[in-house]
Amino acid sequence: MGQLDGKTALVTGATSGIGLAAARRLAAEGARVFITGRRQEALDAAVASIGAGATGIRADVANLDDLDRVFAAIDTLDIVFANAGGGEFAALPEVTWEHYASTFNTNVGGTLFTVQKALPLLKPGSSVILTSSNIDTKGAASFSVYAATKAALRSFARSWAAELADRGVRVNSIAPGPIETPGLSGLAGDPAAAEQLLKGLAAGVPMQRLGQPDEIASAVLFLASDASSYMTGAEIYVDGGASQI
Ligand code: NAP
Repeated sequence: MGQLDGKTALVTGATSGIGLAAARRLAAEGARVFITGRRQEALDAAVASIGAGATGIRADVANLDDLDRVFAAIDTLDIVFANAGGGEFAALPEVTWEHYASTFNTNVGGTLFTVQKALPLLKPGSSVILTSSNIDTKGAASFSVYAATKAALRSFARSWAAELADRGVRVNSIAPGPIETPGLSGLAGDPAAAEQLLKGLAAGVPMQRLGQPDEIASAVLFLASDASSYMTGAEIYVDGGASQI
């Protein structure tokens, strides 16, 4: 018996990293899983690695027509893990309108309209989980636009939890610290710079290491399952203590 037998889940941004690990975990616990991402080849590989009848739908979360196609393909939902997102370093003088708009459109707009369009499919007892970041309360030099998007998601979780409580839908967010994913390495320009970046980030964590995507997947499973039945509007920090100690 899996913890999620009979449940249906959507995981956005599941072609790599945290989303892929979470989709695998939800499927392993018995959920029927739909995943999205923009890269068809990576989507096909992810579907194959998840197994268990997973379905991939190529979609950009910042494109409303794409989102409509996603929800037209899904009949019912118990779990939405709105995870697609990312960022790029830019010091304040270097921030362009394009940088601002693309980061906000994907991270904030993509999450907002994913959850909005999921609403008609969400049954009482459903769980919505947003991927914020532990940066949402801390901030970081040269990462201000990204940090602001994640603070917006933290705020969305609180307001949507209030709005959806009477429908029996819970909304929570997860705040990962530095997690070893292609997205994190990709913040650096080349492999040598990536190695330096990852070393530096690990050194800044009380546990002295990066987190693994599976460690976020465990928190996603907890929030997706009835084990967290009295939690809504909350955020779980999975960051090796980085924001707490
Ligand atoms: P990743 O390996 O780069 O994965 C990002 C995923 O999001 C990919 O599947 C990517 O798929 C998808 N994605 C990006 N933009 C998209 C868009 N416009 N439409 C649809 N899908 C999109 O990075 P990750 O580290 O796992 O990041 C996952 C989430 O965790 C992000 O929201 C990130 O901000 C957050 N986070 C990460 C860390 C960390 O240290 N890794 C820490 C805190 C928060 P395609 O490229 O195929 O579109």
